[in-house]
Amino acid sequence: MPPIEKGWRRRFTKYNRQFIEENNQHAAQRRRNDDTQDDALPRSMYHAHTSIDVTHRDHHSVKTSYFRAPQAMPVPHVTLPVMPSEGISEAFNFDVMDEAYVDYLVDTNTDMEPVKSKRKRTAGDDPQKLWIPKQDKFLREFIRLEGCGDPMSYQACQGLPGCLNEPVVRCRDCEGSQLYCQACIVVQHTTMPLHHMEIWSGSYFQRILLRDLGHRVQLGHPPSVQCCNPALVFDDDFVVLEINGIHRLSLNFCNCATAQTHNIQLLHACWYPSTTTNPQTAAAFRLLDHFQMYTFESKGSAFKYYQSLARLTDNTGTCQPKDRYESFLRMSPGCGHDSNGVLGTKEGELAVLCPACPHPGKNLPPDWGNTAPHIKWLYGLFLAIDANFRLCRRNKSSKQADPSFNKGWAYFMEQSRFKEVLEASGTQVQEKSSCASHNAVNLADTKNARRMAATGVGAIVCARHNLTRPSAVGDLQKGEKYVNMDYVFFSTLQHASTVRVLNISYDIACQWSKHLWSQMSRYPSTIHLWPDDNVVTFVVLKFHLPAHILSCQTKYSLNLIKGMARTDGEAVERGWSNINPIATSTQGMGPGSRRDILDDHFGDWNWCKVCNLGPFLLRKLKEAIPERNQHILDLRDFEEAIPPTSLDQWR
Ligand SMILES: [Zn+2]
Ligand SMILES: [Zn+2]
Ligand SMILES: [Zn+2]
Ligand SMILES: [Zn+2]
Ligand SMILES: [Zn+2]
Repeated sequence: MPPIEKGWRRRFTKYNRQFIEENNQHAAQRRRNDDTQDDALPRSMYHAHTSIDVTHRDHHSVKTSYFRAPQAMPVPHVTLPVMPSEGISEAFNFDVMDEAYVDYLVDTNTDMEPVKSKRKRTAGDDPQKLWIPKQDKFLREFIRLEGCGDPMSYQACQGLPGCLNEPVVRCRDCEGSQLYCQACIVVQHTTMPLHHMEIWSGSYFQRILLRDLGHRVQLGHPPSVQCCNPALVFDDDFVVLEINGIHRLSLNFCNCATAQTHNIQLLHACWYPSTTTNPQTAAAFRLLDHFQMYTFESKGSAFKYYQSLARLTDNTGTCQPKDRYESFLRMSPGCGHDSNGVLGTKEGELAVLCPACPHPGKNLPPDWGNTAPHIKWLYGLFLAIDANFRLCRRNKSSKQADPSFNKGWAYFMEQSRFKEVLEASGTQVQEKSSCASHNAVNLADTKNARRMAATGVGAIVCARHNLTRPSAVGDLQKGEKYVNMDYVFFSTLQHASTVRVLNISYDIACQWSKHLWSQMSRYPSTIHLWPDDNVVTFVVLKFHLPAHILSCQTKYSLNLIKGMARTDGEAVERGWSNINPIATSTQGMGPGSRRDILDDHFGDWNWCKVCNLGPFLLRKLKEAIPERNQHILDLRDFEEAIPPTSLDQWR
């Protein structure tokens, strides 16, 4: 957190007050004019501006201020989806919140209405204070659970009707802490073999395996049905990884005449086998889903996750479960399916597409191709290109030792054709920048690639919604070389071959675009794009443009080219913050694992974007419509102040 400049808060408050006062005066004047001059013009209304101040390390505050602004012009009635939203209440205690949670609230809040008044805080707003006087009671209950509990619970077995056995065993994973006899708890767990058991030793509970109580898992038959020809696992020891820990089981495969293979029997039980021949380890599907969500949200490594499973099983280190980390790694990647079989999957087909970008035949009007030239921008596709050197890979392992499970089916491009193009391009030296001295251009050949198999990746996202494009990620071997970025560009455009207006933002667009079309002939004809059919506009990201020479600042400006809306082109830079935390673990991986895991994370990024697109666009619309109306009024005032003759010339 940077140090806050002295007097910053006082100055900010002063400017804030001044802005509101001026706005109110201006709006009052306009309202008087509106009332007397033109009934059709919009009235003014109150707008609320809510700011969340996170500049203090240990205290965050929310402040809502109100100012007058013209009411929205009448717009055609559109029914927008109503999204459930709690809004951000000022009663929240931001002091104890994770900053990520505050970001989440801001991102998902579509409620632009002001919070009318501060709610009076009640005792219930501080549950921790209420709990402190009761902490001894809570502690006594925890200690009671370490013993046998109520006398009622250990006097008679509550299992099968009429059971008179002594109750001494309980399940840590079933609800409650009821004790049962050994026979009853085994029957109860016929369909729940992945629960942890504890047996009363006389003075404390000790862990015991369900199989040591006499439990056996029978696959290939309905629960409770015995197989007449079972096949035992080698050493009668089968390991299943589940989200509550690592379990050792006694397991029978079915070996009847109609039996399926062992792998299929495991999959029918929702257990993913670690190998295809004589599996002795499996992971519950639930665990694989859980791991995927854990790693998407936390970017934590597979090893940390496995360690937490091992500690859930034995947190003392005295009775550690068998090491199945390598098996777990093999089982963790997922894979899509295709009606033509897995190998029938086409390149980029598993990518989650952006529903807000133009997809002819899916989300454009049937006659979109006949649109008048002046509004063709409506169906333009905005792409943003960038390189990321954090996502590098050290030179270890090989594609033979660690092959990828997918062949360019999602975000990474297909590798073999890309490698051929790279080999054909040889050591061609890149032309130096004729604009400012851009490092990305001038140092493309000199970047240190020692001990690196990939120095980073080049990638393309849709610039207005920030979703990674299909077949749009490729490894870099040195710096940001044109051949790499060209290939990524042409590769992803195969998935947009029918779009006719392309707006491409890139921080070195002025240099890269110079020879792009002439270079295209060096690449396979299957990825050629015909610029004559398309209106292709190259622009430079807004934040990066001031570093260019003056002529670039007009030619490549998103502010000066028609049809660019308020795009800033910086989306691709923002997306890196999501994927960078995983770079530390992917840098040391083999080529296949790294690509598959990065693909998985790009996919999750897109999926979360799609899920949040409704509230995101609704929030943008609520901001944009009043601002657009304000701009109409401002333009009207501006034009009224210019002599009509000059205005006609200017237009
Ligand atoms: Zn249980
Ligand atoms: Zn019993
Ligand atoms: Zn059988
Ligand atoms: Zn998009
Ligand atoms: Zn330039």
